[in-house]
Amino acid sequence: MHEAKIASLILEKASNKLSLLAYANEVKSIQLAVGKFRNIDTESLSFAFDALKSENRIFERTTLIIDEIEAVAICQKNGHSYSIDFTSGFACPICGGGIGRFESGQELEIRKIQLTSEEKNA
Ligand SMILES: [Zn+2]
Repeated sequence: MHEAKIASLILEKASNKLSLLAYANEVKSIQLAVGKFRNIDTESLSFAFDALKSENRIFERTTLIIDEIEAVAICQKNGHSYSIDFTSGFACPICGGGIGRFESGQELEIRKIQLTSEEKNA
């Protein structure tokens, strides 16, 4: 399952980032940007994340926040910027031109990791 693999990669990445921080003991939330071009089922991803997170103590109570990024392309012919509609193909709706390049929608990255506020050592 595609999403389970992604979930496990997110946990791995987050844990690598946190291993640099000696004081990281619990993660409150991980904010993830997922472009619509990635073709990721965000519900499955959340489900997979929740299934896997308890394997690491610091993620036991972590909430995964997913920001879905609209897929926007620039048309090759006239430089129009348009949102891609996956049901009607990828051509520019204004002039029918093909995709020149992608403006957004290919993201798959951790934007923010929030730690649970810590209690000071007595
Ligand atoms: Zn166009």
